Amino acid sequence: MIKERKDVEQKYKWDLSVIYADEDAFFADYKRAEALVKDFARHEKTITASAAGLYEALCASCEIENIIGRLWEYASLNFAVDTSNNNFQALNARVRNLAVEAGSASWFVQPYILKTDKKTIEKWFAVEPRLATFRRTVDKIMQKKAHTLSDECEMLMSRLENAFGGADDTRSLFANADLKFGKIKDESGRTVELTDTNYVPFLMSSDRRVRQSAFRTLYKTYGQFANTFASLYNSHVKETTTVARVRNYKSSLEASTSYDEVTPVIYNNLIKSVHKGLAPLYEYYELKRTVLGVDRLHLYDVYAPLIGEFEKKYTYEEAVEEVLDTVGIFGEEYKSTLTAGLKEKGWVDVYPTRGKRGGAFSSGVPGTEPYILLNFTDTFDDVFTLAHEAGHSMHTYFSTSYNEPHNSGYRIFVAEVASTVNELLLAHRKLAEAGSDMEKLYILNQLMETYKGTLYRQTMFAEFERDMHALCEKGEPLTADLISKKYYRIVKKFFGKDVACDRQIACEWMRIPHFYSSFYVYKYATCISAASAIVKRIESEGEAYVEKYIDFLKCGDSKSPLDSLLVAGIDMTSPAVVESAVADFASCVKQFREIYEKNA
Ligand SMILES: [Zn+2]
Repeated sequence: MIKERKDVEQKYKWDLSVIYADEDAFFADYKRAEALVKDFARHEKTITASAAGLYEALCASCEIENIIGRLWEYASLNFAVDTSNNNFQALNARVRNLAVEAGSASWFVQPYILKTDKKTIEKWFAVEPRLATFRRTVDKIMQKKAHTLSDECEMLMSRLENAFGGADDTRSLFANADLKFGKIKDESGRTVELTDTNYVPFLMSSDRRVRQSAFRTLYKTYGQFANTFASLYNSHVKETTTVARVRNYKSSLEASTSYDEVTPVIYNNLIKSVHKGLAPLYEYYELKRTVLGVDRLHLYDVYAPLIGEFEKKYTYEEAVEEVLDTVGIFGEEYKSTLTAGLKEKGWVDVYPTRGKRGGAFSSGVPGTEPYILLNFTDTFDDVFTLAHEAGHSMHTYFSTSYNEPHNSGYRIFVAEVASTVNELLLAHRKLAEAGSDMEKLYILNQLMETYKGTLYRQTMFAEFERDMHALCEKGEPLTADLISKKYYRIVKKFFGKDVACDRQIACEWMRIPHFYSSFYVYKYATCISAASAIVKRIESEGEAYVEKYIDFLKCGDSKSPLDSLLVAGIDMTSPAVVESAVADFASCVKQFREIYEKNA
């Protein structure tokens, strides 16, 4: 029975009064932001007239951004735990409108700075010491200089870009609303409608007949619309490559990675290093074949569970202690801050309640506490989720405590590092302490699933995207046959020669929405690699290394993602980073097999 929110003890609900004591305080800040937005136009004349003008405009812009961040945090977190509440819905809409207004009021900031020559800007930095805090803000804008067009062209581009993105919308409407996948028989022989959502649970069934039937039925439908999906994907790739060319990038890959302040070299190295590390993945599939007891592993077998449910339950209090024990190595500030956050300061909204959003997330803005939403149900998985989200929150804590607000928002390229570090450390610790073989197998399975899904599968996707964009840039039309042929070839490489690579998988690209955010998924793979390399050093070097890791968390956005990882001694240009993730995965596969064989 799902609980009502009023029946949950206050200590299990987050304390949002730190953001605003009440709605009056929210509206007072809202009005303040509104006034600042209205007043912002006056900076247009002065922003690039002098050093002081630039400083004042950037300060005003940051102040607006901070207030909107707080307003957004308050409205969206309240809404997340009570999604049927019309009042919070309305607050969200108001903040969104204010953000749009702020965006249009400050339209001139970027173009005016870009139009100022570098020498003048450097002179201003020299004469106006207060500007130093905006060094990175200005540098990030100037990085775009070579890719910025004339005023007229920029105006045209902004209109065109508004009209883009239609292929993604069409694909998702088509796949989610229009497509009917037909019916299959579930484990109990009942006829059920197959959807893109229940497909994955069916693929995880321990009944091979159900898995096979879901797999074949789903892709049969996708296959019938191959030309439609190809045409949609082709237009998406064309949009991405055309914009990159118009903006003077050598390739769409260079354009996309440059938004992360990364280069195609990092992207290509990831793919190369993962290719070199495929042997343990093949061993994993051989292990799966053994455990499932089948002659040959098919693609509809790869999600079948290796082991049953883990019975042990954890109360929320026990989960908190598990996480705190894990982060003890990070020193006093980390541990005491997290302890206070989890036990006294109301960071976490713990239990599922009626109308509350599903899943888990962490969210934080400067000047408030970092908050965590959970849907805790006492499982071992929930302990890992808490460790993961606590990693995000502590990254936010260090970033916002050691930087001014405008330099505190760490980038997506490093966003999953601290969370994954915590997850891996917890898994390794529990593995070392595990009392039973069953517990060990459970943890090893969890780790293997994480590496398989995040390191290998995302890199497979990254390779596909790279090749598709490169073909398009060579002028080759992406037809259904061509895309499916290329996709199948990449999948086959990632499963090896011993897995039966069922031909239906050639259609899988049609159902991956991420392909419509070009060159995004590689970041999942680089993040887990960086996290794995960090964990390896924490475990081998101990406290001497930990200080560097904490310094990385303190970077916020004061350095580029690659430079901040260097602070932790992690050089993303070196293949050693991916290698350490591959090695950890390989060791899990080996340990799992040994324990499994001992008990067989
Ligand atoms: Zn995360």
